[in-house]
Amino acid sequence: MMISMEKLARPLVPLFDLKLEPGDIEAVTDTLRSGWLTMGPRTAAFEQAFAEHLGARHAIAVSSGTAALHLACLAAGVGPGDEVIVPSFTFVATANAVLYCGGQPVFADIAGVENPTLDPVDVERKVTPRTRAVIVVHFGGYPAAVDALAELCRERGIALLEDAAHAPSAQLRGRKLGTYGLAGAFSFFSNKVLSVGEGGLLATDDDDVARRIRQLRSHAMTSMTWDRHLGHADSYDVVDIGFNYRLDEPRAALALSRLARLESEILRRRELTLRYRELLADVPELVVPFTADGVSCSSCYVMPLMLRSAERRDQLRHELREAHGVQTSILYPAVHEFSAYRARFPDVSLPRTERAARSEVTIPLYPHMTAAQQDRVVRGIEQAVRD
Ligand SMILES: *Cc1c(COP(=O)(O)O)cnc(C)c1O
Repeated sequence: MMISMEKLARPLVPLFDLKLEPGDIEAVTDTLRSGWLTMGPRTAAFEQAFAEHLGARHAIAVSSGTAALHLACLAAGVGPGDEVIVPSFTFVATANAVLYCGGQPVFADIAGVENPTLDPVDVERKVTPRTRAVIVVHFGGYPAAVDALAELCRERGIALLEDAAHAPSAQLRGRKLGTYGLAGAFSFFSNKVLSVGEGGLLATDDDDVARRIRQLRSHAMTSMTWDRHLGHADSYDVVDIGFNYRLDEPRAALALSRLARLESEILRRRELTLRYRELLADVPELVVPFTADGVSCSSCYVMPLMLRSAERRDQLRHELREAHGVQTSILYPAVHEFSAYRARFPDVSLPRTERAARSEVTIPLYPHMTAAQQDRVVRGIEQAVRD
């Protein structure tokens, strides 16, 4: 039986909305007609285009951002006994990737609600002789203190990894995020800035890391089906314990098609973000993280707000949903406060992360959002915070 999506209750202003163009759909149907469905010419073309776009030597497409983070940790040599410093104000996958390798995530605090990204001072405090890597997250697509962290890591011989899941095409001083460390992980999950459903990518300038990642992505086989199809090889060896972290061709085709619009969609996200900042500047109950200047560096993945009175958050979200049809979310609950993490790391205390995790409300943002929709969100917030 078919379920009509139209009949499911939908908010008037959703948190995120995806709009594909006819060219995107054609790119996918062409791929389906081609009869070659995984790891072929479209994946190679997307990797090349993304590497050029970033200014990175290598871009390796994988099945998810989580897979990219896992491979990044392996490339940095993370294994049992190693510590990796991570934020807790992030999606759980950032820390999970460390645990997949048998390493220990060590949580560092954020700078504060105005800038909810890793505090380099707290990172430095948490470095021990066992620290193997630092994973920095560019929350919302805004550059974290990645230059300071890169220097700290260089001085101490620690690998810097970037979780750039929010931040394709974002930059700091002209250098794209995801190219500051040993490797940068991107996500193309449904609600991300460059979404294809499920997908990810690892960028690196290091030839050895790239070779290792390409192998581990596909069972550490010494040749791929496509090479054999082209007659470049007719057998293979398995040289490590790898994974099936491949991206398939329809999604690579969709990613390549959408990549052409990435910059213009981000420009639109920036305009909307600046307009939100102006409209919300005089609401004393709110802190709007980051700065208007920071918007020009950011991919503006989401629009985060911090409530000065965290205890009013549930009511605000409820009223926005019920009275105004506005969908909101929380990015993020603190990772160290999830049950699975509390059980393993009972003593972690991160006051600034905990405050942000209790105060944060993410409001709708997507490139084709209209001014009328945005006004509806802002009016709803103004009414709700004053009730
Ligand atoms: C989405 C996300 C991931 C995981 O990406 P998937 O493609 O969903 O596996 C990792 N880190 C952050 C910060 C994310 O937002």
